[in-house]
Amino acid sequence: MNEYDSDKMADVMQACGDMAQVDRPEDADIILFNTCSIREKAEDKVFSDLGRAREMKLRKPALLIGVGGCVASQEGGAILKRAPYVDVVFGPQTLHRLPQLIEDRLASGKAQVDVSFPEIEKFDHLPATQTTHGAAFVSIMEGCSKYCTFCVVPYTRGEEISRPLADVLREVEKLTAQGVSEVTLIGQNVNAYQGETPDGDTVDFAYLVQAVAAMPSVQRLRFTTSHPREMTQRLINLYATTPKLASHLHLPVQSGSDRVLAAMKRGYTALEYKSVVRKLRVVRPDISITSDFIIGFPGETEADFEATMKLIDEVGFDASFSFLFSPRPGTPAAEMQDDTPYEAKMSRLHRLQERIAALGQQVSDGMAGTVQRVLVENISRKSEAELAGRTENNRVVNFAGSPGMLGRYVDVRIASGTLHTLRGELVLQ
Ligand code: SAM
Repeated sequence: MNEYDSDKMADVMQACGDMAQVDRPEDADIILFNTCSIREKAEDKVFSDLGRAREMKLRKPALLIGVGGCVASQEGGAILKRAPYVDVVFGPQTLHRLPQLIEDRLASGKAQVDVSFPEIEKFDHLPATQTTHGAAFVSIMEGCSKYCTFCVVPYTRGEEISRPLADVLREVEKLTAQGVSEVTLIGQNVNAYQGETPDGDTVDFAYLVQAVAAMPSVQRLRFTTSHPREMTQRLINLYATTPKLASHLHLPVQSGSDRVLAAMKRGYTALEYKSVVRKLRVVRPDISITSDFIIGFPGETEADFEATMKLIDEVGFDASFSFLFSPRPGTPAAEMQDDTPYEAKMSRLHRLQERIAALGQQVSDGMAGTVQRVLVENISRKSEAELAGRTENNRVVNFAGSPGMLGRYVDVRIASGTLHTLRGELVLQ
């Protein structure tokens, strides 16, 4: 989501005149920060990075500094108190207003702050995405209305709001006309999508997926992130009827303990989560499931943690992100009593990460010898003579090939692999 927002910031700036992206901050006339407040660590980083930008501004007084994203949304004008050299503060829902905010800053000589949530206006004002390789993100909804007790998102991005169906389909069409064939629909909880149709009806996420998959130029379809509470049977069934849907689903579980899940206000039990995975595997046996975990939620006991480890073994996750609980200001969990020592939490996190890594390595090892259809997305980061593509289960595979293959689907035989990256060789057709 943040990558998407950063790209959009670059798009709006480039669309409004004689501006171009530069590679080195020293060469920039405007520096924009896209910030994240999901955990404290990410938030702290903003202010240390801003300190460096301040030094640049001392050497180049005309330099403009903008702070966007969720820290900006949460702090608003308070950012100016801590960093008075900042010129523009904007939120995730007002990034399309950047050119105007910058103009106002230059005209008035005063810092500008706009962190409002102007409904879905943003999407009507964003320039069309320019892409050079065959894969693209399409944002279909914004915000979150789940109010999990640990999470800051509803306060920084606002409540769930879906883009109208026709707008999403039009964007996908434009992208495919530019050569995109793999589309990832994105949103905080994509499966909460409620899109308005031109005749005033509302359609759900399963309908949207079917409509996108029905476009002949779309060859592969992914979506992220889904909430376990809204994995409807209609959506699950699509894995049986829609081969274009990649065999991968990111489904954050957070914990395997019902007590912790209830305290998090997730709205499902471990059994209900497992039941969703079981239903998915009935219709798509090879589907890979990845997840998010929060370790050390207030009151998490050793028994709660063991329940999470048990769930990991039962589900067999393909890969996962795991985080130590970080109290976020204004969220209910930040006020909950938290007696677990930091060392105990870290030891749990390491145990969980080791287990997840071992399972992920097993999956990579099991892929050796198989032939995977991948979209060639990039030249490999390590070598100019190598290409990089993404397998259905979202692993990067590097293989020798020519740049002429960029944007095309090719078959690659997997040789070996680490947790996230595989090596392979082209299967000549
Ligand atoms: N909407 C998705 C959901 O809740 O299922 C996930 C969105 S969130 C941006 C990404 C991940 O960050 C969450 O799944 C969670 O694991 C992690 N996260 C969110 N708040 C956190 C907190 N206060 N401390 C630690 N991790 C957190």
